[in-house]
Amino acid sequence: WPSSTAGAIAAAEAHSAHNYHPLPVVVASAEGAWMTDVEGRRYLDMLAGYSALNFGHGNRRLIDAAKAQLERVTLTSRAFHHDRFADFCTQLAALCGKDMVLPMNTGAEAVETALKTARKWGYKVKGVPPGQAKIIVAANNFHGRTTTIVSFSTDHEAREDFGPYTPGFEIVPYGDLTALSHAMSANTVAVLLEPIQGEAGVLVPPHGYLAGVRELTRERNVLFIADEIQSGLGRTGKTFACEHEGVVPDMYVLGKALGGGVVPVSAVVADAGILGVFKPGEHGSTFGGNPLACAVALEVIAMLRTGEYQQRATELGEHLHAELNPLIGGGAVEAVRGRGLWAGVDIAPSRGTGREISEKLLDRGVLVKDTHGHTIRLAPPLVISKEDLDWGLDQLRAVLSGA
Ligand code: PLP
Repeated sequence: WPSSTAGAIAAAEAHSAHNYHPLPVVVASAEGAWMTDVEGRRYLDMLAGYSALNFGHGNRRLIDAAKAQLERVTLTSRAFHHDRFADFCTQLAALCGKDMVLPMNTGAEAVETALKTARKWGYKVKGVPPGQAKIIVAANNFHGRTTTIVSFSTDHEAREDFGPYTPGFEIVPYGDLTALSHAMSANTVAVLLEPIQGEAGVLVPPHGYLAGVRELTRERNVLFIADEIQSGLGRTGKTFACEHEGVVPDMYVLGKALGGGVVPVSAVVADAGILGVFKPGEHGSTFGGNPLACAVALEVIAMLRTGEYQQRATELGEHLHAELNPLIGGGAVEAVRGRGLWAGVDIAPSRGTGREISEKLLDRGVLVKDTHGHTIRLAPPLVISKEDLDWGLDQLRAVLSGA
């Protein structure tokens, strides 16, 4: 095991592709909201694996569920049934108020699954002429990294040099119902949106937008696909961010926290009239819905059913925003956005880039990550204590004041 930060980073730089620019910390262990590096320094995790660790590091229930399943069976492939699969699908469908689940592993795979589902539904159910299906997405979206998904990204870095791009997508401004309405045509099969845009800097759409999208899509026989991979499963104080507007989309796309930060688990959840379009051989994944993934996700679903984590996100989130909002206009912070225990903080350029602020926070024992130049994202595990959250916020204030 490495015992020096510099040595471990140099080796990683030499032998891994440079598709990330991590902060210079090498984590060796973690528990709850805290991580410890290879040199024994402790850090408060205010990122939570981009919301994959909503239930904290080393969550006892999740680790016990994983260990018990590791001793029984971990993989069957979907060539055979296994005894955790039906429970997982039944309970996840029930959590979403839908009929069916299609399990995958990563978020991007689940988004791809939703796109394929929508196209097939368009041809088989809506009656769109072959090859003509159109899917509408929003500017500043982040749905993953596959060639099709980056085809409809508006982020230059994510997209440049990865063409030729997949056709069949139209991009409209996020939050603009008029633009969305104009973009919808007879061949539109779906609108794919993040209810809150996480990677873009925790952008919350104007109130009424999601409800408006729901109304428009229902009127025009178009599927509303909500990518709740980052916003869902407790983060905003509700099981789904769409609930804040009383909206039920046609398809939920879930990932990240569904695997509790233990195993990658993702899924598309929808009614039988939609997911029922698939026949054997048309879609799949060797690891999708494997026994280990199902066992961990079942525990995640059980924890979400209590409502306890949503409640914590609401209460701690109110506190987080009450502490952050007064920083606006003080010269260091230009804007704060978010919902629940989730915030995007735009740093005044005079105080440094998001990266520089993140590095200063690292020196003070707090882990966050910048997004898009001058924004830092705060998304601690929902199990963080109020005292620890306050300590983390003290460090942020100290860094912003130049201390
Ligand atoms: N969709 C959203 C909203 C996300 O935030 C992410 C990841 O950040 C993804 C999709 C992609 O998930 P993954 O990295 O597991 O492929």
